[in-house]
Amino acid sequence: MVAATKALALSIDLDDLACYRAIHGRGGRLGKRPRTEADILPIYRTALPRFRHFCEANKARATLFLPTIHLDFIQGLGAELRAWVNDGYEVASHSHSHPYALTRLPRGLQQAEVAGSGIRIAEALGAHPKGFRAPGYTLSTELARIIREAGFHYDASLMRSPVYVGAKGVAISLKWLQSVRFQRRSASASILGDPRVLCAPTLPYRMDEAAFHRRGSGLLEWPISCTPTYAGAMPWIGTLLALLPERAVRQLARTVAHRSALGIEFHAIDFLEASEFGGAELKRLQPELRVPLNARLARYAIALAQHARDGFAPGASLQDAFEQVDGL
Ligand SMILES: [Zn+2]
Repeated sequence: MVAATKALALSIDLDDLACYRAIHGRGGRLGKRPRTEADILPIYRTALPRFRHFCEANKARATLFLPTIHLDFIQGLGAELRAWVNDGYEVASHSHSHPYALTRLPRGLQQAEVAGSGIRIAEALGAHPKGFRAPGYTLSTELARIIREAGFHYDASLMRSPVYVGAKGVAISLKWLQSVRFQRRSASASILGDPRVLCAPTLPYRMDEAAFHRRGSGLLEWPISCTPTYAGAMPWIGTLLALLPERAVRQLARTVAHRSALGIEFHAIDFLEASEFGGAELKRLQPELRVPLNARLARYAIALAQHARDGFAPGASLQDAFEQVDGL
């Protein structure tokens, strides 16, 4: 076994079920058909306990990216999240209301989403969060500036997978066409971000204040990790791991073994069965939900075991993983 010196960051985005309706153009865009408690409860009552069990079985910790609007829905959520922090996890911001088009909102509304969510977490947990992840991985130079001005130390939104960006573009176009043809459906709430993400560094870096995709002395960035180009340049996220046979997970995990820092990003839905939240329609739209939960959990664990064999440290929160990266 190689000495564990390479940073491995684990994170989970606590997207609720209304977010998925918005992506798929079902039930209207977020904000027009408000969330209900039923959209949020399965995240905290079912998915998160499983995620904690998964982390602890693998001696790992992680960052929880929270849409702070959830604090308005779940009584006692602040106290629950404080308990996570006391156990070595990090709670960071995933905006306030998870607007997919955050970078297209007027500056004042972007500030309200970013700074407002930081204040909500500070109130609930007693300390300002260090990290921010934008909904839908869309980043801009202006948003990076707003994140820094709001007192965050790092961003973790950058998605530089051409495969992901291309697939998202096709999906948005198809949803738009369907919304025109079947007028009861909405277009997707997703948007395509700035294409310069595809030129950004692959490893953690400090952003140039004038151009987020270039190195500089500004906000820290932890990009979403992707497999190398020869291995499909696919984002190394729970959705992908869930869909791959075990042997393929192991083989693809080996293709990122050379990196000095790596992240695995999960979503809460990666730890749910569709039957647990009345998600029959979502199951048709999200293929990973058709993989039985036990098979998915086994695939996630295989990835972590391979990373350990390849010399990565046990999974850590992003704030702790940054400490293990030299030269920042
Ligand atoms: Zn999200």
